[in-house]
Order: sequence, then C-alpha cells, then structure tokens
Amino acid sequence: MVLLKVRPGAVGELAARLPGGVGLVSATNGKTTTARLITACLRADGRVPVANRAGANLLSGVATALLETQGRTPAPDCALFEVDEAALPAVAAQSGPRAVVLMNLFRDQLDRYGELETLAARWAAMVAGLPATTRLVVNADDPAVAALAPGRPGVVRFGVEDPALALPALPHAADSTRCRRCEAPLDYSAVFLGHLGHWRCPACGLERQAPEVRVTRVELDGVRGSRVHLTTPAGAMTVDIALPGVHNAYNAAAAVAGALAMGVTPARIAPALAGAQAAFGRAERVALEGREVVLLLAKNPTGANENVRTVLLDPAPLHLLVALNDRTADGRDVSWIWDVDYEPLLERIASLTLAGDRAHDLALRFRYAGLDPAVMRVAPGPDEAIDGALAATPAGGTLYLLPTYTAMHELRAVLVRRGAAADFWRDGDG
Ligand SMILES: [Zn+2]
Repeated sequence: MVLLKVRPGAVGELAARLPGGVGLVSATNGKTTTARLITACLRADGRVPVANRAGANLLSGVATALLETQGRTPAPDCALFEVDEAALPAVAAQSGPRAVVLMNLFRDQLDRYGELETLAARWAAMVAGLPATTRLVVNADDPAVAALAPGRPGVVRFGVEDPALALPALPHAADSTRCRRCEAPLDYSAVFLGHLGHWRCPACGLERQAPEVRVTRVELDGVRGSRVHLTTPAGAMTVDIALPGVHNAYNAAAAVAGALAMGVTPARIAPALAGAQAAFGRAERVALEGREVVLLLAKNPTGANENVRTVLLDPAPLHLLVALNDRTADGRDVSWIWDVDYEPLLERIASLTLAGDRAHDLALRFRYAGLDPAVMRVAPGPDEAIDGALAATPAGGTLYLLPTYTAMHELRAVLVRRGAAADFWRDGDG
C-alpha cells in the first residue's frame, strides 16, 4: 500500500520486467485453486513465476507479491495472480496481461459487489480495454462470462461436455439465467453447476459456443479427487487432480486453458496438475486425533451447493461442522443460506455441529429443512466446535468442515495450534 502511494504505476513497472508475461485469473468461485494449478504448470515448465498469497488478491496483494520477489534468485520471469472480481479492472489495466482467465460470476457478497450484472458490466469494460495481444480465456458455460468474448481475436473457451454430470434442474441458487442480449429466459439442455451449462436463448438465438478446451468425461473418485478427460487444441489430455467434485473439473479445465494461453508446453500440464496440492482451506485434508478432517470453504450459495454435492460422494454417514460468520470478508448479509440446498444431506447426516457468529441462523435453516434437532448442536466458539465435532466423529472417520471465509481462518487456526495443519503464512508462493 505504501508502494502504491509513492509509485502508483509500480505494478505496471514491475510486471514489465517479466519476459514471460503476467497471467490473471478471476472468478467468484475457484480462482485460488485455478491460479495455484496454473502456477504449478508454469513451474513444471521451468519458469519462475511470481504468485500472490491466497486471498491477497487486490491491487495491493499483487504489488506486494511483485515487490517481495525483487532481487530474488533465481529471478522471476513471469507472474500468475488470482485477482478479486472487483479489483480485476485495475490490475488488468496496470499489468498488461499476457492472459486473462475469466471463470464464472455467481452471486456473492451482495453488500460489497452488488448484483452480478454490475460486475459483468465492469468486466466487459475491462475486456474492451485489453491490448489485442492479451489472450482471453472464458468459460463457455457461463452466459455472463461467455458474453465477454465475441469480437475478440484469439479467445480460448473452456467448458464441460460430460452429460453424466448434468443436474436434473437449475438449482434454486442459479443466478444468470437470462439472455445477455435480449433478456429472455435461457433454455438449458444441460446444467452442470449453478447457472453453468449448455444454454441457448429461444428468443434471439444467442447460444453457447463450442469450447476449444472441453471436458469430455469426469471420473469422480469420491471426495479424494477426480480424473478429468479433456480435448484441447494441443491434443487430448487426461488429468488426475487431488480435488473432488464437478467444480474442480471446471477449475482443471480453466487451468489447462490458462496454462496453454501462458505458453506452457502441453506435455508438462497433466503431470503438473497431478502433483498440485489443495490450496489453503480448499479441499485441504489433515489428520487430527485419529480422524481425517477435510476443509471445504464456501462463501456463497453456489459454492455451498457444490460442497453439499461433494460430501454426498462419501458413502459413509456424514459428520459435518458448518460455520457461518458475517464479517466484512464473508459478506454481512447471510440470507444466502436460505438459497443453499442443504436438504439432500438430511438423510445422510450422522452429526452436525454449527458454529460461527451466525450459528443460530444455520440451526434455524436446518430446522426448517426438517433435520431432527437431536443430531445437531451449536458450539459457542471454534475450539468447542472442533472438540464437539471430533467427539461425534468415530475414530478413523472423516469430519467435514464447511466454513465461510473468516470462519475458515478461525477453524484453521485451531488446526494449526494443534499441529494438524501448516501455518497460513507458509502457504502461497512456496
Ligand atoms: Zn436472447
């Protein structure tokens, strides 16, 4: 922040020193994981990328990452940043990116971002200002994001084309279901996640374009990970990732498309993704007191729905700790929990611990869902929540933590204190 005060153009100056260019990744959901996957590809290709720490994704976080690596040996030769949706226009304007990966826009933190149409309009203005040399990578399955691509040369689209992953209907939390051109309701022949799918406007004919990077098949290995089969302009790829769920198939597709746009040698991509570790709090798993603890961050209804879908892949009775905070970084408005489809969990829950500043809102939500109050308990603090949830989980079993952003930090601090997880400050560019 000091650097940006004394030298407002510092990000542009420092970025210009990187011969391999700058890649930017933005999205409501999945940007941290995807940026981490692309960074792994760059390293596997023999590059020395600068990367920002998870969550330090405003202009100040980008400036910090560039500043910290000055004078480092070996000298960094490229950069890959996850960027906050609202901060993206400023970061893109300064950094003259080689590639910009736009993954999705979901309703999130209404108090801070406004409706997603506001962000979509800001992204459209940002795209219009990009140099012609910037490779734009967009999600063909998100109507709001795909609408940013037409007219630009060299656009790379990614999307999912595995009918086995389709949902029976649009979820309640689906956001962007109207045509970007004429506002008629879109028809979907397949929905994979939120409002992502194969869409078409019956009124004006605007429709999803065939992606260059397509996921043809996903083999979900429960909550452990997935095998993602893709076709790309550089040939077919099979990618094993230690990240579960359909949302991570999208992240893998975005990472493959982003790595190709950054010039990574295609043969290096699949091995790099297979070796990548989960980002801090994103499907991160640790051992504690003879139990496996899995952290699944969710900040909005679409993310929470995907976590529900992911834990349901575990055939065992479910032990869950759901934590809801309403601080600035979480979004102050927690009404979104009423848009999450928690109901499919009910028959499968063996124990439910509720925590966070708004634990009682969660208890009310689960009560309305019809959960027997005898299987849930409200914990007064993060330590009590972990203790109670562990005690309810049989030895050798798995405990799933489903927190919002600041609640994740609190729960993770407990895990670090008990020696189960690495400290946050060691995460990021290491
Ligand atoms: Zn239309």
